[in-house]
Amino acid sequence: MRTVHVSLGNRSYDIKIAPGLIDRLGRECARLKLDARCAIITDTNVGKRYAKAVFNSLATAGFSPALIIVQPGEGAKDLKMVQACYDQLAVHRLERKSFIVALGGGVVGDLAGFVAATYLRGIAFVQVPTTLLAQVDSSVGGKVGVNLKAGKNLVGAFYQPRLVACDLDTIKTLPDREFRAGLAEVIKYGIIYDANLFAQIERDLPKLLKREPKILAAIVARCCEIKAEVVGLDETDGGPRAILNFGHTVGHAIENISGYGKFLHGEAIAMGQVAAAKLSREILGLPERDIGRIENLFHRAGLPVRIRLNAVRRQKLLHAMRLDKKVSGGEIKFVLAERIGKVVWNQRVPENMIHGALDEIVNRQSPIENSK
Ligand code: ADP
Ligand code: ZN
Repeated sequence: MRTVHVSLGNRSYDIKIAPGLIDRLGRECARLKLDARCAIITDTNVGKRYAKAVFNSLATAGFSPALIIVQPGEGAKDLKMVQACYDQLAVHRLERKSFIVALGGGVVGDLAGFVAATYLRGIAFVQVPTTLLAQVDSSVGGKVGVNLKAGKNLVGAFYQPRLVACDLDTIKTLPDREFRAGLAEVIKYGIIYDANLFAQIERDLPKLLKREPKILAAIVARCCEIKAEVVGLDETDGGPRAILNFGHTVGHAIENISGYGKFLHGEAIAMGQVAAAKLSREILGLPERDIGRIENLFHRAGLPVRIRLNAVRRQKLLHAMRLDKKVSGGEIKFVLAERIGKVVWNQRVPENMIHGALDEIVNRQSPIENSK
């Protein structure tokens, strides 16, 4: 088993990464000295595969779990669903020392984490992320929350879990498209922080795409280490944590104008990262060779690197970028790369250069999109 420690004073916790972890979850939770009563929050897709094993593991260790099952998809990150969860927690008489187990992808983690952060002013929670994206990104770092009609993640909290248990076996049942979308965040860590990781992904991509346990374990652990380091420097945003947003300004805008659901988050940020790489060339002199490697790796991972947009939607894309939550004072700030493995944040970019970078990702036909 690999363990990554997230160092945040009295909110510190471990990320454990191994196959077969669900069967040991009860024992791991017992070490946290939590109350017997708990609730597993999951969605129907994940629940039908893993809820029973999680339930049994907890029950065998002496816990008495309740099971709360929500519909899959972004729609579950809704205040009505939060309310429904509270009601069920009350029915099952969860108390201050009780805890919540979030079993699922990023959606379940964000919802269950927000419920845990607010029920009785906060009860403990344990993340059991079952998507690649959740294992390397959303389950680590304590951002939890739900959506409003006006936008994604507009209501939430920073609330750290007590444990993150990444069971690598759960990745086996993840749909291919979801797995590839997770790789977009994995590749991001290479670009923003670790040139060796990037080179390793280039080299081992075929094995990674086959989800070979050894390589998956090493890569998930390295990504968690990087995220833990960055979050340890800047728990509540505003500083270095911004580097995690590489590719996300354009990526979020693409998700926004395409209607949520057309592109998965990972697909949108793959295109966003290519655009950010082009901007990096203009502003910081990122070598053409690095841009080629970045584009090529996303392409080989089966992710889109081009988007088809007519003039009207292109205009909408620019507009959506200006509305991004991270924009302050109307100015769009970018995370840009000096080279693979090193980025800087808070970079101002003149509007004409943004146009130029968009031109390079827009309108050329993507071979990947064609085959969808
Ligand atoms: P993300 O983690 O990418 O934010 P979601 O939480 O929406 O995304 O999960 C993506 C989809 O994959 C959902 O439909 C979810 O039910 C499903 N899912 C999550 N984990 C697994 C798994 N291990 N096996 C099969 N399907 C899964
Ligand atoms: Zn992301």
